[in-house]
Amino acid sequence: MTAQLIDGNALSKTLRAEVATRAAALKARGVVPGLAVVLVGENPASQVYVRNKVKACEDSGLHSVLEKYPAELSEADLLARVEALNNDPAIHGILVQLPLPAQIDAQKVIEAIAPAKDVDGFHVASAGALMTGSPGFWPCTPYGCMKMLESIGYELRGKHAVVIGRSNIVGKPMALMLLAQSATVTICHSATADLGAMTRQADVVVAAVGKRNVLTADMVKPGAVVIDVGMNRNDEGKLCGDVDFAGVREVAGWITPVPGGVGPMTITMLLVNTIEAAERTAAASAT
Ligand code: NAP
Repeated sequence: MTAQLIDGNALSKTLRAEVATRAAALKARGVVPGLAVVLVGENPASQVYVRNKVKACEDSGLHSVLEKYPAELSEADLLARVEALNNDPAIHGILVQLPLPAQIDAQKVIEAIAPAKDVDGFHVASAGALMTGSPGFWPCTPYGCMKMLESIGYELRGKHAVVIGRSNIVGKPMALMLLAQSATVTICHSATADLGAMTRQADVVVAAVGKRNVLTADMVKPGAVVIDVGMNRNDEGKLCGDVDFAGVREVAGWITPVPGGVGPMTITMLLVNTIEAAERTAAASAT
């Protein structure tokens, strides 16, 4: 059996077209949806990420502002910028690119973002909203994974989902989103005694580790859905995921590629969250 691909680029194209339509509708009402992206320092990967995010905004008709600061920026100065953006009516979403330099407490900065503008979904208010099933913003990467499952019409109710990784930005929110769809969820991590014993029971596996070949063909139940969040480099320096793609695709029913899988979906869900933030603001000011 060769797995069917879940194409993150194609799905992103569809979802971004919907964002563009919603942006045009807001503009017709005099509201230009706006995202502020804040970058501190010169981290090369971060520079690529913010460039891609800003370009994606422009392509979908969203206004974006890129604020770049030197690596020496103080925590107080960054907090002051976040506060200014919180109060800027032209900005509906605020994203502070991580990681931040050592002198800045990243969690403190995230908590300074107004929850209504927390389009990355990292604020404790957003985490709490996800936990309790209340309205809020979902972290973009797991949200994108959920959209990928939805795109293949996958019914999660009663299925066993195994999430490998328990970070606050991917693993934990992913598990909560799957649980909210009534999957039975197992969360694995570096202290999991026998990862393969867990994943072999899974109808859905989400790998969010950051290590190549964490999931190999012998660890996958035939026909399972495999979502690969990992971003690593192989021996040739090429981007690859956590999953042994060549082997696992011969066993799984569905699989996401790297590149062209979860990566583009993460940016797409940032656009979705931003348009949502702008619509909520517009609706609140109309009442
Ligand atoms: P992270 O904070 O480093 O978390 C990694 C998790 O993997 C931890 O919970 C860790 O367990 C677990 N782990 C480590 N080794 C393991 C092993 N051998 N078996 C089972 N679990 C193991 O990473 P993250 O931020 O969640 O990101 C994970 C990966 O996704 C990275 O490659 C990252 O680049 C990628 N990513 C991609 C996107 C995208 O848009 N495609 C977005 C975000 C992240 P402990 O908690 O016990 O240490």
